[in-house]
Amino acid sequence: MQSLKELYKIGNGPSSSHTMGPKRAVELFKNNHLDATKFKIILYGSLALTGKGHLTDYIIRETLKDYQCEIVFDEKMKCEVHPNTFDIFAYKGEELLETWRVYSVGGGTFRVEGEEEISAIDIYKEKNWYEIKSYCIENNIDLYEYVCQVEGNDIKQFLNEIWNSMQNTIKKGLSTTGTIPGKLKLQRRSKDILEKIMENENETLRRTRLLSAYAYATSEENASGGIIVTAPTCGASGVLPAVLYYMKEEYSIDDEKIIKALAVAGVIGNIIKSNASISGAECGCQAEIGTACSMAAAACSYLLGLGLDRIENSAETAMEHHLGLTCDPIYGYVQIPCIERNAVAAMRAVDSSFLSIMLEQHTMISLDLVIETMYETGKDLQSHYRETSEGGLAKKYCRNKFYNDEMKE
Ligand code: SF4
Repeated sequence: MQSLKELYKIGNGPSSSHTMGPKRAVELFKNNHLDATKFKIILYGSLALTGKGHLTDYIIRETLKDYQCEIVFDEKMKCEVHPNTFDIFAYKGEELLETWRVYSVGGGTFRVEGEEEISAIDIYKEKNWYEIKSYCIENNIDLYEYVCQVEGNDIKQFLNEIWNSMQNTIKKGLSTTGTIPGKLKLQRRSKDILEKIMENENETLRRTRLLSAYAYATSEENASGGIIVTAPTCGASGVLPAVLYYMKEEYSIDDEKIIKALAVAGVIGNIIKSNASISGAECGCQAEIGTACSMAAAACSYLLGLGLDRIENSAETAMEHHLGLTCDPIYGYVQIPCIERNAVAAMRAVDSSFLSIMLEQHTMISLDLVIETMYETGKDLQSHYRETSEGGLAKKYCRNKFYNDEMKE
């Protein structure tokens, strides 16, 4: 497993695999060829099918704005290795300088075919939850101490920056109103939700209102191209910050403890990223929102003072009940179902954590098993349901809209 610095990345939304990953790869490639006169990019698979809605072409043109740049959307080529594949070519005049085949594997991370050294190295020796848990028990340390042992003490400073960025995004989202860019013309709702205190609001309603408002705040910023933290991706970036912010506000937890919980969530995200996938294009939304929910549930349990078994159980429950969740964003925008889905997952994360307290001694499914199951399920999902906007809500909504518009005429 790689450093948590490879999991949590601060950057612009709306998509870690469709904007952040391509931007980072194209930037690196460009810096290797500053003398080039022209770049050509061919997008395949999910990048070709939903790249426009996810702003892939926009971010590539921005990155190469000082150069001639041609972008081709090839929807036909079968992507054998990863559904988020693209080729980059650098030319000097007519001469081809170099070409890369790039896989944007989710969370802003990319791999270059045949160039292993460009990818970040694995710094964690333990490969899955079982090994990590065993190591922590043997050495009598908790998950945060484990992360510090592997990553060194400067990880605290990094996590502090990540937490500050998450909080700033929530605050910005909560203070912004208006329409989210794109033809859905969605209104921002986070401020409304936060302020809509119901008459005789009880604890349950208050929890729903706060968690949803915080999750909407980040997700609306993401959909608007604002600054977010991948947790583990842009599309699912609202879940973990919402739970951490809620716990901080409602349980008066200090930032130092929240940062430790961020490390715990990072361990879970890292295990899923390295043993399965965090890419909606590869394994559907279960890999994005399911992972975010699992990370947030583990963080919540840590903040409630629960031990390794309960942390495992809450992370497992959170993922188990996202199994099979498809990715079908309408018009390819990270808006419907994505924004609301972040809010629902934030609530589910807290519920999973509380449920783990009640289920003590009664758990039969391990975290590693559910992660393996998620990966296998994701591989079995038809491509319609893996960030292509060719199935599910995306298909039904467009058909209905066409029908409704026809009826109006
Ligand atoms: S449906 Fe889920 S996986 Fe797909 S773009 Fe939205 S948040 Fe990401």
